[in-house]
Amino acid sequence: MRKVLGVDRPGHVFVITGPSGVGKGTLIRGLMERMPEIELSVSATTRSPRPGERDGVDYHFLDADEFAERRARGEFVEHVDYAGSSYGTLRSELEGRASAGAPVVLEIEVQGARQVRRALPDATQIFIAPPSLEELARRLRERGTDDPEGVERRLAVAREELEARDEFAHVILNDQLERALQQLESIVLGELESSARGQAQGEGELRKP
Ligand code: ADP
Ligand code: 5GP
Repeated sequence: MRKVLGVDRPGHVFVITGPSGVGKGTLIRGLMERMPEIELSVSATTRSPRPGERDGVDYHFLDADEFAERRARGEFVEHVDYAGSSYGTLRSELEGRASAGAPVVLEIEVQGARQVRRALPDATQIFIAPPSLEELARRLRERGTDDPEGVERRLAVAREELEARDEFAHVILNDQLERALQQLESIVLGELESSARGQAQGEGELRKP
């Protein structure tokens, strides 16, 4: 059987991407309430924890030296510099969670999604789009987690990220939350069903004499 990330029967990987503030985290929380079997990959970052964020739960908070050392050791599936900090997906996160066969969700920005496309071409990539740049700015400001400079840095990156939406097979417009959540759930269920069918066929072929 073909191995992915050193795992025989990996769980399906879903990449949820799109600009900061578009609602990725909100949608993923909603999805996980509906589908508790889904596992969320905990990213590493050098940015400071926001109030209430917990190390190992929201992020693995690393200092710049540790991030650089682990990057040099090849521990990341993908990593980027974003808005003045480093972010990355640790191989150990994916291997640990996918080896149990669970569907794994990565919540990452667009450059990282491109890297994952090369590293894991079977992963399902979903781009979340805002109704408009103005609404994105409003959500970022109202979220209240970033100072005005941080909001501006995120908006500057967002302008480029929005141009990438055509690269993605699945695009969800996060206008009405409930409708966007239903679309996300239906994409995830559809992909899980077709990957289960693919695995069953693969097993059938292996059993042929
Ligand atoms: P991201 O994870 O992409 O950075 P968040 O999930 O933190 O974005 O959402 C940013 C803000 O927008 C939050 O305050 C969230 O409550 C709000 N939000 C998310 N989806 C919607 C929506 N469909 N309509 C209005 N506000 C939304
Ligand atoms: P925040 O600082 O708001 O938590 O995250 C900023 C941006 O980085 C968001 O768009 C978020 O999705 C993205 N991000 C979080 N973790 C990762 C990661 O591991 N890799 C990449 N490429 N982006 C990430």
